Amino acid sequence: MAVVSTYNFQIDMQCPQCGAPVVLNETEYIIQCDFCRTCNILHTHPFPCYYMEPTLKKYSSLKIAYVPYWRFKGLEFTLGKKTPGFRVIDLSYLAVKKSLLPPTLGLRSQTQKLKFLHKGITGSFLPPAISRKEILQQIGGTGDKKVHIGEILSLIFMPFYQDRDLMYDGLTGSAVAMRSSDLDANKKSPAYNLKFTPSICPNCGWDLKGETDSLVLHCNNCTSFWLISNKKLNRIKAMFFDTKSDIHMPFWRLQIEFSKLKCSTHAHLIKIANIPTIIQKSDKQKILYFYIPAFKINPKLFLRIGKQTTLARIEPSRIENIPQGRFHPVDLPLKEGFQAVGPLLMNLCVSKKDIWNILADENPKLLSYCLVYAGFHATGSEYIQKTLGFSIQKNSLKFGRQL
Ligand SMILES: [Zn+2]
Ligand SMILES: [Zn+2]
Repeated sequence: MAVVSTYNFQIDMQCPQCGAPVVLNETEYIIQCDFCRTCNILHTHPFPCYYMEPTLKKYSSLKIAYVPYWRFKGLEFTLGKKTPGFRVIDLSYLAVKKSLLPPTLGLRSQTQKLKFLHKGITGSFLPPAISRKEILQQIGGTGDKKVHIGEILSLIFMPFYQDRDLMYDGLTGSAVAMRSSDLDANKKSPAYNLKFTPSICPNCGWDLKGETDSLVLHCNNCTSFWLISNKKLNRIKAMFFDTKSDIHMPFWRLQIEFSKLKCSTHAHLIKIANIPTIIQKSDKQKILYFYIPAFKINPKLFLRIGKQTTLARIEPSRIENIPQGRFHPVDLPLKEGFQAVGPLLMNLCVSKKDIWNILADENPKLLSYCLVYAGFHATGSEYIQKTLGFSIQKNSLKFGRQL
């Protein structure tokens, strides 16, 4: 496995119920308050906006200017005529066109906690001049098509002290090569509305269960599953496979309609993936579902697990009661699971060049989706899925939750 260092910010905030201080990890959606014992879901639509407070006492009499940086973290797949390439990225970019400012957040920001942006912060603000879209294009570069999934994209305002004509980094105190007068920061801190909803089943009112970094929560009382999206809880269909397990790993099961590619049944898949078997009548009738891991993991493994599960033609079923065992967090949104179909097809297909030529102007549509939990058994250092015949290292899942 490629060793990539990624870093998670921590966020200082207050419990929306009682106001007690809470520290949230960048990957978390649920605020668990130890003080009043409530759980609230945090909605940061369309993306989280943070700032860092300046810390240097010796400059405390100076004016403060806040400069925006985009932060991007996620998996990148490169689609081209060869096998899909991939990497884990953890980058930051200056969001204004001021070449004398530090081009990235660098390491200096990792020592301090972030806060959510709000009205009334002392200091002047420089609005971002480079859009989220432009940044994503910049990350992708030119050439082969890139697919980014599972990304955390956030805007972080960094403080700079402004003396009469000099500027200092608000965290390290080092002088910046830019003149104070050239930084025309003159805006007040923008309003940024955080929304909270109680983590309670909209159907029956019981407390919802799930890890704090999961986008899907479930209700043990009425056996329902809820996806956090668009500032609310949306009921989704969930099915299970091998329920008597230690851990249930989530997959997006997607039925896709392609405009050009013939790829709607298992018979088509057998052909595309060049599987040495005789195509049966039943293969021609069996709907092809793509199984995309609904959890983040190193991109090479992500494709391997997606391929093995899609080829396995499993038959999940509905459940009456929530089964025993842990639920691994769903931390890959449905939309991004859908985007991963391209890279997965590239990986499944034997003739990369042919599939690439077709996919290049393909317009896939999502016909149906549901969440499928596949049960795995815990052994020493891995989780094993006996029916599918593969295992996942516990360490790779731990790494994935940091992404
Ligand atoms: Zn509280
Ligand atoms: Zn319920």
